[in-house]
Amino acid sequence: MCESKDLSTALSFKAAFEQLPPEVFRLAVEQAAVAISITDTRARIVYSNPSFSRVTGYSQQELLGKNQSILSYKVTPKIVYESLWGQLQRKQPWSGLLVNRRKDGSRYLADLTITPVLNAQGETTHYLGMQRDVTEMHQLEHQVMNQQALIERALDSTQAAMVMVQADLQPVMSNRSYKELEKHLGYPPLPELCQALKAQWPNLFQDDVLLNRSFAPLEVRLSGHHDPELWFSCSGEVIEEKDTSADAFYQKSFTRYLLLTLQDISHLKQQQKQLQLTSLQALLSEQERLQSVRETLSGAIYQLERPLNLINAAARLVSRREQPGSEELLSLLGEVQAAGQETVNQLTRCLPSDIREEDQVVNLNQLLQSSLSLLTPRLLAAGVIVDWQPESDLPRIQAKPTSLATLFKQLLDNALDAMQASRSDQRELQITTRSYKEFVEVTLQDSGPGIPPSDQLRVFEPFFTTRQQSDKHLGMGLTLAQEIVNSHQGLLEVDPEFTSGCRIKVQLPYV
Ligand code: FAD
Repeated sequence: MCESKDLSTALSFKAAFEQLPPEVFRLAVEQAAVAISITDTRARIVYSNPSFSRVTGYSQQELLGKNQSILSYKVTPKIVYESLWGQLQRKQPWSGLLVNRRKDGSRYLADLTITPVLNAQGETTHYLGMQRDVTEMHQLEHQVMNQQALIERALDSTQAAMVMVQADLQPVMSNRSYKELEKHLGYPPLPELCQALKAQWPNLFQDDVLLNRSFAPLEVRLSGHHDPELWFSCSGEVIEEKDTSADAFYQKSFTRYLLLTLQDISHLKQQQKQLQLTSLQALLSEQERLQSVRETLSGAIYQLERPLNLINAAARLVSRREQPGSEELLSLLGEVQAAGQETVNQLTRCLPSDIREEDQVVNLNQLLQSSLSLLTPRLLAAGVIVDWQPESDLPRIQAKPTSLATLFKQLLDNALDAMQASRSDQRELQITTRSYKEFVEVTLQDSGPGIPPSDQLRVFEPFFTTRQQSDKHLGMGLTLAQEIVNSHQGLLEVDPEFTSGCRIKVQLPYV
């Protein structure tokens, strides 16, 4: 049914075609906007239309009988003509680009199609040539290519690594610095970068997809174990590309890309960290100096208060007995008492007051790492193996950072002193951070001799020490540590369950 319909359409088309007067064909060719020429089998022109004259500059009369090679500008490689003629001899049409020369000597790029005209016996009698001047289009195409090459070269010459990604985060283009970074890492950095961005700046993401929106430079650390740490200042710029497909010719549409620019700031970060460490060290040294003055003065007050209390007791005894002549002794004791109390008061006034510090948001992992960094030379010298187990994404707490740094320095110093004092060669220090519902817990566990159960509470008393008393060990370190933890409404305890050394637990609430 369908086939017979096709046949009838074909028959009616043939009938309609045959009814067309030959004049229509002649006029159509004559008036066509495209340059048309008809040649004999040796490429001698037998007909050319006015458009052909417009393109080439030759009149129809001048072209008649001439070989098409009249247009040849001798830069087209021979192989092009050989392919052209090879195709025509196989009675196949040929299409391609040729550099032609007009009558006035100017050149143009011709987009040419030659079709063999076959007679009823299938022999080639003529060739039909149709060409368009595509010089401008070619120029435009090359201008775009040149511009692209220029942009690529400009991007390559920047120090910053740049990568353009699609909505699905697949890279579509990257510059030399980015490729070098990829080579340096040994794998594409994009997934790790997005993971790090998401961990530090979750607002940039929605359902695991990086939002297609521009963002100002953000500091981001690649999450892998890079030594030294890899830090980048990363910014995002949305770039819209016009859709060039035919569908978008009347209905404009855009494809959105995100250009990520990565500036390596690892060196700066290292300097910043070093600076922070140096200032922390300076602060701790100052705290330590003040603490040492405080301990010495407190020690002196403590020593003075003992005989003073005895004198007080003696004075009370003498006054109770009311023996003759005791007034003189009482007045003497009173003078000693007053002088002693005045000295105690003077010493108390000399006690340096604490450095006032406001609560801040504190990253305990970072603080502990800095404290460990400051202690590295001592740890190395003592051959201590450090097992640092921070909880990733440990919630931050509100606390006084310098006080906490003093606390951890004290606890770390204690652990190190204990391990150095023990005869064991195996020296291990384990530091762990864990988060619970209401607090963050830091555990410091050393492989030293430990604290006997009977002393586990007393070590927090002032002037109590399990070591030989010396200038360094007045027995105030854990008292101070306890004070700091108390001022944070936290808890400090020696774990009684642990017997292979000493394990100290510090619990600090979030606020
Ligand atoms: P030619 O000596 O003409 O030929 C170069 C090579 O082509 C030779 O090595 C030879 O093997 C082969 N060759 C040439 N003529 C024939 C033939 N008749 N049969 C088999 N092989 C042959 N050229 C242009 O430069 N610009 C045009 O716009 C253009 N339009 C053309 C339109 C038509 C319809 C046809 C049929 C040809 C056209 N040509 C055109 C090709 C042109 O005829 C020349 O072949 C070409 O210009 C090279 O010229 P030439 O003098 O350098 O070399």
